[in-house]
Amino acid sequence: ISKGFKNAKNRLAGLEELTEQNIETALREVRLSLLEADVELSVVKAFLARVKEKALGETVRVRAKGTDGSTVKVRAGDVFTKICHDELVAFMSADGESIRFADAGPTGIMMVGLQGSGKTTSSAKFARFLQKDLKKKPLLVAADMQRPAAVEQLMVLGKSIGVPVFNIPGASPVEICSKARDEAKAKGCDVIIYDTAGRLAIDDALMEELAAIKTNVAPQNIFLVVDAMIGQDAVKVSKGFHDRLDLTGVILTKLDGDARGGAALSVREVTGAPVRYVGMGEGTDKFEEFRPDGMASRVLGMGDVVGLMKDFQSVVDEKKAAEDAMKMLEGNFTLDDFLQQIKTIQKMGSLKDIVAKMPGMDQMMPPGVDLDDRELVRIEAIIQSFTKAERRDPYAIVREPSRAARIAKGSATPEVAVNELVQKFLFMKQMMDGLGQNMGMMGKIPGMN
Ligand code: GDP
Ligand code: MG
Repeated sequence: ISKGFKNAKNRLAGLEELTEQNIETALREVRLSLLEADVELSVVKAFLARVKEKALGETVRVRAKGTDGSTVKVRAGDVFTKICHDELVAFMSADGESIRFADAGPTGIMMVGLQGSGKTTSSAKFARFLQKDLKKKPLLVAADMQRPAAVEQLMVLGKSIGVPVFNIPGASPVEICSKARDEAKAKGCDVIIYDTAGRLAIDDALMEELAAIKTNVAPQNIFLVVDAMIGQDAVKVSKGFHDRLDLTGVILTKLDGDARGGAALSVREVTGAPVRYVGMGEGTDKFEEFRPDGMASRVLGMGDVVGLMKDFQSVVDEKKAAEDAMKMLEGNFTLDDFLQQIKTIQKMGSLKDIVAKMPGMDQMMPPGVDLDDRELVRIEAIIQSFTKAERRDPYAIVREPSRAARIAKGSATPEVAVNELVQKFLFMKQMMDGLGQNMGMMGKIPGMN
């Protein structure tokens, strides 16, 4: 406790006060950041007005982070960013269950959205999620009769995940949806997912069709599917759907791309309906529950460190992952840890997926570092030829080139590969230190203490 207190004191010593003036500077930075993330201007304004009020009244309290907390410098701007971050998290968080289940009979989930937003893909992802994670028996309903290929698309997806797909060739969407209930009963399905048609822009005919489906099947859930790249249009689109259909939730797709995801904010501000799930790729398994903390970091341009750590957690135990994360962010990350993580990464799947979670990370990689997973095997071989002391202090290999020669021989790799690895590790460590400084202001990583 006394150590933690000392760290806290050290940190506060380097702290500037939040004044009206430096808040204005910080506000400008955050405003730019939000606009770059494609949050709609009126939403930005409303949000920042709330934050400003909060910041002015805030006495700054910074929590000590860990054993090495004193190395973290905290600027007033960073504190302000933390307030913004917390405010964003609070704003995007939602109470209640993501899915409302029916008291009796099958639960209805209606998917709506513009054409190309990802309804059909998300319907299949949702079905897989319900089946695998919630042990439900879903039925997919192909109710997009606009595009001839739409039914076929859902059939193929359904087949790939072993979920039945219902359609009546030539029938109207309303008729198909109405009859799906009987089909669900016959097949023993307890959730019905209605994949509806979309348009390039909102129009009356579409809204009428969707409203008619809603009236007929009275679904417990209506999810708006929004492409994260929609940008400023998010406001108009979500208002259009919400006014007619009364949305219960939002699914934000294509977050595996470059979009910073400001739409998550815009949609919430306009409809009040919370984002519940996100699409992280084209595959049916690329579907995740929405995490406001990760999204807040992303919108503010800080990378989804928490999401990255969540992936670690799914293959290693949670405590170990938390410790690793702390070590990384505090700069106490050794080659031994690195080796351990290489093994973890191999269990986790593709390195590219991991890097994709951290916007900007790919650009930070030094040239020549490719993300070939086979490389990991080679790296592992090299590190295993390090002595214990070298693992603790890889600089020794830079200082004494004879060490690199020995390791090269031991691991049957060229000496240049050994040197390259050491450089990479030192670079990564440096990068993590930088990240740690940025994260330091967060006080803590949610879910890690
Ligand atoms: P719909 O018209 O709303 O039914 O949209 P689709 O489900 O047919 O999706 C349109 C395109 O977006 C397809 O090529 C999908 O593979 C792609 N897509 C959907 N969700 C995602 C996602 O989360 N990430 C990526 N990268 N592509 C996606
Ligand atoms: Mg579709």
